[in-house]
Amino acid sequence: MADMAIATEDLVALLRWYIDQGVDEAIDEEQVDRFALPSPAPALPTPALAPPARAPAARPVAPAPLRSLVPAPATRGPVPIESPQLLEDARALAESCATLAELEAAVRGFDGCVLKRTAKNTVFADGTPGAPVMVVGEAPGADEDRLGKPFVGVSGQLMDRMMEAIGLTREGGFYITNILFWRPPGNRTPTVAEQAMCLAFTRRHIELARPKVLLLAGGTSVKAVLDTTEGITRMRGKWVSYRLGDGTELPTMPTFHPAYLLRTPASKRLSWLDLLAIDKKLKELSP
Ligand code: URA
Repeated sequence: MADMAIATEDLVALLRWYIDQGVDEAIDEEQVDRFALPSPAPALPTPALAPPARAPAARPVAPAPLRSLVPAPATRGPVPIESPQLLEDARALAESCATLAELEAAVRGFDGCVLKRTAKNTVFADGTPGAPVMVVGEAPGADEDRLGKPFVGVSGQLMDRMMEAIGLTREGGFYITNILFWRPPGNRTPTVAEQAMCLAFTRRHIELARPKVLLLAGGTSVKAVLDTTEGITRMRGKWVSYRLGDGTELPTMPTFHPAYLLRTPASKRLSWLDLLAIDKKLKELSP
């Protein structure tokens, strides 16, 4: 019989492969032996329908519209997660918030985004609300999920150093958030539906924070907030306008994501130009 023992190096290689595929975290505290779970109970036979009670003789009526011929379900089933209705609910909820504190409470209480099910924390924002610059990144990673704050891992540290280079810190200089409030499992790319759900809140977030300048970090954030298919390489470094609900045009700078700069340090030169443009714009807006 073949030897079934698995060599340690094969197990290590398998774990590495999982990590490369983005499966880098257990969802449950305890591992589940799914082979040992009892098989699902067999479906009960459907009882034969009782004959309908005889109705009293009815007066002739006009033919029913076709819609009423379809039997209505006995009870309304659960609203599917991320349904168009939930997206409408998210938008209405976000619109109803008049302050950042209300919006934060609404986001924390919102269960309509599947990402929340696997995240440890809701990652709302950090820095100073009302600061002149608002940074919008992509999604919390493992560190942000653990600590419940945006941009606290290595790319966040680079972001802080970059902002500090033009005299801006989280203590008064900038406010920072992401288009997603929950970490996608294994840092996978969020689906369009997940992005749309969170974006309903992020748009209101920008309106309520009302920065002088918006800085969009990374292609995903740029595409989502500006609703464009244009890539970050073409967009970065050029001012665009983001229109708030009341018609105010917000000067907006797309720039590379710091995680990209960590992988491609040669691009830091371009990001420095973007930062200088922000510094100049802030001086023009508040001479
Ligand atoms: N990358 C992001 O876009 N946001 C974070 O909060 C952390 C890393």
